[in-house]
Amino acid sequence: MIDELLSGNVKFQNTIFKQNHERYSELTKGQQPPVLWIGCSDSRIQTGHITNTQAGTLFMHRNIGNMVPANDWSLATVLEYGIKHLKVQHIVICGHSDCGAIKALDKDLDDAHVPNWLNNAIEAKLRIDAKIKKPSTPKEHKERSRMIEQENVRLQIEHLKTYPIVKNALKEKRIDIHGMYYDLETGALSKIE
Ligand SMILES: [Zn+2]
Repeated sequence: MIDELLSGNVKFQNTIFKQNHERYSELTKGQQPPVLWIGCSDSRIQTGHITNTQAGTLFMHRNIGNMVPANDWSLATVLEYGIKHLKVQHIVICGHSDCGAIKALDKDLDDAHVPNWLNNAIEAKLRIDAKIKKPSTPKEHKERSRMIEQENVRLQIEHLKTYPIVKNALKEKRIDIHGMYYDLETGALSKIE
């Protein structure tokens, strides 16, 4: 598999990199990404592809379940660097269909780290389950997962707004925050209100 990655890179150098030489050469001088993207680690989502964006556009943070925990040094550093130094104008939190993190909210896991991490999303599940009747058909189960995946994005936006650097940037109208949802079945990316 690793050889495939390296031969894939040779192909990339000989095609896309060569054809967009000017752009890649410009990128060696620095980055000015307009968007900070917080997404799930899921391998089925290639963010640049699904948004048709070029290198240099999306400043990325990915983790399991596109979470914004209240105390996360890695994310806090990304927020500080992205907002203060790179001056991103938009922050996107993107959830997706068939998310393993959301499915795992219904399971009793004995992993060392996963259950703790998933606590960041448990409120989304509780909110939806309090609102809908217990699902019984596969279609209802799927719809419930979808609702929790989307509620989780709203919940993580709430968490995001507790970071002082985000609060200040919002107050001074330097950034906008957007919730999004990617559907693996259709390839469609949509806004979450
Ligand atoms: Zn996911």
